[in-house]
Amino acid sequence: MAATFTDRDHQVARTTHKLFWRANAQDRRTFIVWLLTRPAALLIYNVLIPFQVAYGLQSIVTEEFDRVGHYALMVFLLGLAYCVLWAVGGVAICRNGREGTAFIQREVFKNYLNKDYEFFNNAFLGTLGAQATRLKDAYNEYSILVLNSIVKQIILVVSSIGIIAWHSWALAAVTVVSMILILSFTIATGKWRLKYRRLLSEANSEIAGVVGDALGHGVTVKSFASEAYEYQRFDKAVAKQVRMQYLSWMTSIPADVGRMILATVATVILLVLTARLYQDGIITIAIVVLVQLYVIKLVNATQEIADMIKSYEATMSGAHQAVKTMLLQPTILDPAKPKKLTQKSGLDIELKDVTYRYGDAKKGNAAVKDFSLHVKQGEKVGLVGYSGSGKTTLTKLLLRFMDVTEGSITLGGVDIRDLSQDDLRSRIAYVPQEPLLFHRSIEDNIAYGKPAAGRAAIRKAGAAAFVDEFVGELSNGYDTMVGEKGIKLSGGQRQRVAVARALLKDAPLLVLDEATSALDSRSEQYIQKALWRLMDGRTALVIAHRLSTIQRMDRIVVMDKGEIIEVGTHDELLKKKKGVYSRLWAHQSGGYLLPDER
Ligand code: ADP
Ligand code: MG
Repeated sequence: MAATFTDRDHQVARTTHKLFWRANAQDRRTFIVWLLTRPAALLIYNVLIPFQVAYGLQSIVTEEFDRVGHYALMVFLLGLAYCVLWAVGGVAICRNGREGTAFIQREVFKNYLNKDYEFFNNAFLGTLGAQATRLKDAYNEYSILVLNSIVKQIILVVSSIGIIAWHSWALAAVTVVSMILILSFTIATGKWRLKYRRLLSEANSEIAGVVGDALGHGVTVKSFASEAYEYQRFDKAVAKQVRMQYLSWMTSIPADVGRMILATVATVILLVLTARLYQDGIITIAIVVLVQLYVIKLVNATQEIADMIKSYEATMSGAHQAVKTMLLQPTILDPAKPKKLTQKSGLDIELKDVTYRYGDAKKGNAAVKDFSLHVKQGEKVGLVGYSGSGKTTLTKLLLRFMDVTEGSITLGGVDIRDLSQDDLRSRIAYVPQEPLLFHRSIEDNIAYGKPAAGRAAIRKAGAAAFVDEFVGELSNGYDTMVGEKGIKLSGGQRQRVAVARALLKDAPLLVLDEATSALDSRSEQYIQKALWRLMDGRTALVIAHRLSTIQRMDRIVVMDKGEIIEVGTHDELLKKKKGVYSRLWAHQSGGYLLPDER
């Protein structure tokens, strides 16, 4: 299976290297210490010590026994120096890794956190955390690989071949050729085996998918009594997995045996050649021993080098997804020099000929079309329309989750594209239709509207939004954890927490996607009251479904297919007997306008 690389892959790989080296450079001091000590230690171990041993052997052969002690002492001292250098380098690299690992994680989180709305809307959110973790692991492997293995192998190979060549070019040449042959064989079999490892990893993800599906939707499985069916699916996946696992293990046997045969042949040839050199008086017996030692080392190094290449590939592919995500540029950016809104409150909203087309929409098919509306300060405007008429899109444009395709939106006379996103959003309290809460306490969830708020202010907002009403029944009160996405609270309770949050935020503008979900009448009453408290004294744009809310709006905008088709007060609109609004009103039910079914 030949891998095809695109420019994009190259860019990702380049960025990955850059990122990892920036991580290594976080603590330069330790990096330099490592750079000075580790190669020195390796040279002592690989060159100086073997030489002293060889000279010692030579002394034994020539029966100059009094010199052996000298060489033994040298070996001891060099061994000591090696240990010290190695340990110092080890400490340095551990410290370097500490800083680097922190850096990588901070970079990823910061990068992901600053993505735009579009990203979070499309991203497969569950995998983001796993991606980031894999990047951190990849960095750690990369450090070990690059900083230790590659340096070690380079020093080993270069010094060993150098020493052999110093004594005999022919021997060095044969050694290099043998190494290249063995290495090529190992890499080739590695590629062949990769196919099976890929199939295995596919089978592994398949199992993960089956397990996630079945256990993640355990309630659905139970309600359909389909345990046996799910088990069968799982069993099939396991059968495939173990077959691939078996093949992947088995293929290692011919690969290993082939390598061993090549290594043995090389060793034999090199042994014979060394013997010839000795016979011709070119090298002494000590050098014979030394050279053989290096030959064996080099032959073994081929496996390590092949492993290194393999783990390098694995490391880069582990980092690939996260770095690719990091490279995605947000489309919504702050202006270079953001304008400031001069008024603290009292902001009017002006939408001028706003058109918005989603990226995947057909040409001419805009979600919002030529939309013009001026919302005066303190005015409460209700948006009404069938599902898909562009109401939610409009609120997203106002929050600048996306930029208008044509036209403009101004706030207090300033185009929202000229404001910083923080500034814009700090002035808007947004209550979405289905508020999702953090897996934190109720108090923390309310405090999210204004993190600096004190406890008293949080409680006050909670009371005003009728959160007290249900918190009183919880054993831990405001400290109760709400569960993943607020799952432990009912829809109405979640909404009240969201309203409390918006009350605490105390922003001059309010954007509300009113819930249509049928709540029990008590919950409904509380939310109603809470919402009116929230709207009091603020400029509000409300996607309204409740008749009671709609009737109290200063103006009602009726939308269809992204366009305004009617504007007026409730009474004005009802007078148009053939108007869409009167039709909608006629189809009301249970206190709601029912525009959501067309
Ligand atoms: P409403 O809130 O009035 O029900 P929306 O603003 O959600 O309407 O949707 C308006 C139109 O835009 C619909 O046709 C919908 O399919 C489309 N739309 C909404 N969100 C997206 C999106 N993220 N990508 C593409 N099209 C979208
Ligand atoms: Mg909507």
